[in-house]
Amino acid sequence: MKKHNFSAGPCILPPEVLLKASQAVVDFDNSGLSLIEISHRSKPFVDVMEKARTLALELLGLEGKGYKALFLQGGASTQFLAVAYNLLENKAGYLNTGTWSNKALQEAKLFGDIQEVASSKDANFNYIPKGFEVPSDLDYFHCTSNNTIFGTQLKSFPKCDVPMVCDMSSDIFSRQLDFSQFDLIYAGAQKNMGPAGTTLVVIKEDILGKVSRQIPSMMDYKKHIGSGSMFNTPPVFAVYVSMLTLEWLKNLGGVKAIEEINNKKASLIYSEIDLNPLFKGFASKADRSTMNATFTLENDNLKETFETMLKEAGINGLNGHRSVGGYRASMYNALTLDSVKVLVEVMSELESKA
Ligand code: PLP
Repeated sequence: MKKHNFSAGPCILPPEVLLKASQAVVDFDNSGLSLIEISHRSKPFVDVMEKARTLALELLGLEGKGYKALFLQGGASTQFLAVAYNLLENKAGYLNTGTWSNKALQEAKLFGDIQEVASSKDANFNYIPKGFEVPSDLDYFHCTSNNTIFGTQLKSFPKCDVPMVCDMSSDIFSRQLDFSQFDLIYAGAQKNMGPAGTTLVVIKEDILGKVSRQIPSMMDYKKHIGSGSMFNTPPVFAVYVSMLTLEWLKNLGGVKAIEEINNKKASLIYSEIDLNPLFKGFASKADRSTMNATFTLENDNLKETFETMLKEAGINGLNGHRSVGGYRASMYNALTLDSVKVLVEVMSELESKA
């Protein structure tokens, strides 16, 4: 039976990408060697890396605008400290919208003064703070575009006189934005791009080289840029699969085309949550994420029936994160509108049974 994968990760990919990836593991490019056996310095792999880097900039509309794309290791969590290593001389400002932004903030505290510019902790992060100003004496301002756990998403970004850094791990390539308002974007591959193991970092080069500390090589964006994202052995499989997904996205019509599909998926599920009296949305309506819809079932007595129905319909990964409870429907780029239709049918069937 076809499974509908609503899991928050680590990785949801289009079937055609999975198929190509699996073929490359056996025989890459008709070379008789596996993708994971060939030298990462060989032309075929260097071409993969270059293509992935170029596609990332192209899909974000950042080609020729002074940005460089890197595929690094260590997950988005390593970027929490790499950002501070490279950019924090005195003071940085962080918008605290949930678990991940708070983790980023805590790591940065190791390197300098950190100002929490605004926070939604008072309401268990169910909304995005508004109306705050970003001070102009900061080295940079950091925000998290999509809060994977709480299901909130920044719909617009503050005007900033200082470089703006954004963790886009769970909504990169999902919607159109003016990406040139950001000076540094990072995203773990494992939601909308590829397997865990690589992190996309997109940097406006001219913000680098301004801190006085010595930066260890693996943390130094300049070193990674200088070596074409090949300072050490790159995670070849994760980079290759990310490249395939970016190619898939380009062929689909790019970020504009996927945004239309993502909006349809999100409005379908949120309409059901709002219309069906059995369910209640967690996130404030204006800030609802198109990637992760968080909701609860109001009547505990129906939990078992609902979960049996989900299982029978082939729905996987709907459990909410422990910080929120209830359910979370993660609808990353590779999840189809049909899968959301199946979930919504189960939710409305539950109502007719109750
Ligand atoms: N930032 C966000 C928004 C996330 O959703 C996650 C993981 O889900 C992370 C950071 C941490 O990513 P990683 O596990 O790649 O370190």
